Amino acid sequence: MIDPLLNDKHQELREQVRAFAEEEIKPVAGELDERSVFSVELTTKMFEMGLLRINLSKEYGGMGLDTLSYIIAVEELARVDASQAATVAAHNSLGIDPIAVFGTEAQKRHFLPKLAGGKKLWAFGLTEPNAGSDSNNTETTATLRGGKWLVNGKKIYITNVASEMSGGITVQVVTGEKSGGRKELSVILVDRDSPGYLTEIIRSKMMWRGADTGMVEFKQVEVPEANLLGERGMGSQIMLSTLDGGRLSIAALGLGLARGAFEMAMEYAAERVQFGKPIGNFQVNTFKLADMATKIELARSFLYKTCWLKDNGHPFGKEAAMAKLYSSEIAREVVNEALQIYGAHGLMKENPIERFYRDQRILEIGEGTSEILRIVIARHLGIK
Ligand SMILES: Cc1cc2nc3c(=O)[nH]c(=O)nc-3n(C[C@H](O)[C@H](O)[C@H](O)COP(=O)(O)OP(=O)(O)OC[C@H]3O[C@@H](n4cnc5c(N)ncnc54)[C@H](O)[C@@H]3O)c2cc1C
Repeated sequence: MIDPLLNDKHQELREQVRAFAEEEIKPVAGELDERSVFSVELTTKMFEMGLLRINLSKEYGGMGLDTLSYIIAVEELARVDASQAATVAAHNSLGIDPIAVFGTEAQKRHFLPKLAGGKKLWAFGLTEPNAGSDSNNTETTATLRGGKWLVNGKKIYITNVASEMSGGITVQVVTGEKSGGRKELSVILVDRDSPGYLTEIIRSKMMWRGADTGMVEFKQVEVPEANLLGERGMGSQIMLSTLDGGRLSIAALGLGLARGAFEMAMEYAAERVQFGKPIGNFQVNTFKLADMATKIELARSFLYKTCWLKDNGHPFGKEAAMAKLYSSEIAREVVNEALQIYGAHGLMKENPIERFYRDQRILEIGEGTSEILRIVIARHLGIK
């Protein structure tokens, strides 16, 4: 495909990740999904390929590549298996990014090389039982005592938090009270090997069954005072600006999933014969395929433009929300139509389209539901 924003390095990376996804992930994706297993082997290979440190600067052990490179990698992984794409997306944009952007030099030197080359994944803990979209309702607390934060509380539905490869988490916590009784929200980096840090894998889920989703509970966990990220009270600012970048990853996941489903539908529509001709030759299906291709192209163009804005230092929060909203909605539409083209065969477990149908569903919920994103976009437009 020709894209004016892509250079030769982007194309090379795309080919490299696509070959890896086809050769190493595709043969096992169905089984990992069926057994609901996170693959240490695949994640180790993705670390070795540099996919888990793409954007991080070389100074801290990263690949030093641009946002577009990262997005292309997530897109190519999601074209084959959303679970592996989710592992990579969460580690890069939610794990590494807030530390790289808001960390002190000492924090960056301490944490980032481990997350780049130490084969340790890092999680991002915003969601709690009583704080989903309403993240200001965080209940996890951190109290400063004798030079240490004492953390208590629980985070749920967290990516990369519970497998043996998880190294720790960046969490939003309540550190005090502001004027008017509002919570003072701050962000703390918590190592997994801290006593009182308890994790549980959530296996019984509809989608991303090959990714690590879990919950973490903090019971009197002691954290060095120096692990405060940014200033006290900057919690929302850090977490929400991290989500701007994270939304680009979800958009890339939607784009990749849609592409994978579309390619499968194209193939099947050409080979399945009914009433004496390939079903793709019936105009209703031809139009479906044309609509799917159009939506994918539009999602891609807008996402790549948003990456360009980010890489060139322009504000991109509104566009990231739009890209995530659009890609996740067209992913649902494209995968749904692709499955329709497969007929009953598409409903069978042995057909990957069935997994794609489940895997896309989270995209309209995680990192800002579609309803919340419409509110975010409206606010950017000046509508209260
Ligand atoms: C597989 C998976 C991985 C995840 N990974 C992470 C992670 O790594 N880190 C993390 O912190 N979280 C993670 N999450 C959590 C995810 O970000 C939340 O599920 C999401 O933010 C929505 O919160 P909620 O599910 O509590 O929904 P709620 O906020 O309870 O919303 C329920 C419904 O109400 C609607 N709603 C809520 N408020 C409003 C409003 N003001 N106006 C209109 N409608 C509204 C929502 O749009 C939604 O339709 C993950 C979730 C899953 C399933």
